[in-house]
Amino acid sequence: MTRIEVESLTKSYGSLVAVDDISFEVGEGEFLTIVGPSGCGKTTTLRCIAGLETPTEGRILFDDQDVTDVPVNDRNLAMMFQSIALYPHMTLRENIEYPLKVKGVPKSERREAAEEAAEVMQIGESLDKYPGSLSGGQQQRVALAQTVVGDPVAFLMDEPLSDLDAKLKIDIRKEIQRIHKRLGQPAVYVTHDQEEAMTMSDRIIVMNEGQIEQIGDVDEVHLYPNNTFVAEFIGNPSMNFLDCSVVEWGDETAVVDVEGSRIEFPIERTASQFEGEEAILGVRPQHVSFAGEDRSFTATVRLIEPLDDRALATIDGPQGELAALIPRDSDVAEGDEVDIHLNPRELHLFDRETTRLVG
Ligand code: ATP
Repeated sequence: MTRIEVESLTKSYGSLVAVDDISFEVGEGEFLTIVGPSGCGKTTTLRCIAGLETPTEGRILFDDQDVTDVPVNDRNLAMMFQSIALYPHMTLRENIEYPLKVKGVPKSERREAAEEAAEVMQIGESLDKYPGSLSGGQQQRVALAQTVVGDPVAFLMDEPLSDLDAKLKIDIRKEIQRIHKRLGQPAVYVTHDQEEAMTMSDRIIVMNEGQIEQIGDVDEVHLYPNNTFVAEFIGNPSMNFLDCSVVEWGDETAVVDVEGSRIEFPIERTASQFEGEEAILGVRPQHVSFAGEDRSFTATVRLIEPLDDRALATIDGPQGELAALIPRDSDVAEGDEVDIHLNPRELHLFDRETTRLVG
């Protein structure tokens, strides 16, 4: 298969609208991740693609063929979920073969395919063991081998890494990417972890309350978030927001006032006129610094926490807390009064009323 289409999909449970009229496409060999907070409708969307749920309205198409009413077992999809369902009384070999057995593939063929899949997943040595003796990571490898063996038309994965520790997460994440590239089929991956989404995906869908807030590649959603919801959800640590009013609205630059401090910065306008309006200035912690000639305002450093090769500083800004990522060897200490500089090339401006990006 080369393409999955989700067309005006709505799924309601009684009066609760879990998925509210969403449409998107997953292209040839594409890895698409649906990300969003708990309850936003990610799993329901995936279950509709899988055929585990019947849409209330809308259609699911695989390569232009309407599969909305095709039962799950006839869709030939590889599915991987958070809780792995390996049969405890079967060896790994039997577990890996099982999807083929269900399809009626002859035994010798099954055997060969299972061994090949186990080799790919580097668990060839353990084929005669039982799942009970495996670690969480090994079980995920078996689950991945199961997905490879069925020669699926697409991959659907729902938080498959959430039970694993940090190191295994990275290992299995790489395995998933390797398998996906090797098979070249479309993949839909669901997670609430934006970092996972950013590292694995070709494109990302950010969902909120059953609707799509934004679809785009990793850079698009990071650099041009449609609204404050996407801006806050994508990126770690989260974007800072400051209320401001727009003093000047030029073709290429804007000037805003934050508590009496004027800040000028280049913009790519999405609104023709915004002078005098109330807005929200967004700046990521990476772009807040203590150096720089262009002081935006003065503030007190409340807390400094070491983070890998940098440190996260929490500052008492003009409107409450502001986060800044600073060099680990910075000589600034907690309690210091510092000049805060916001990198003008990295500022986002949102309409305070609609929360949409305006520049
Ligand atoms: P999470 O990350 O917590 O799994 P999610 O984004 O995957 O969340 P869904 O599981 O799709 O969200 O749920 C969306 C909404 O639909 C939630 O309010 C949920 O309670 C509701 N919901 C999901 N499945 C059912 C069901 N079978 N019956 C009733 N309500 C449901």
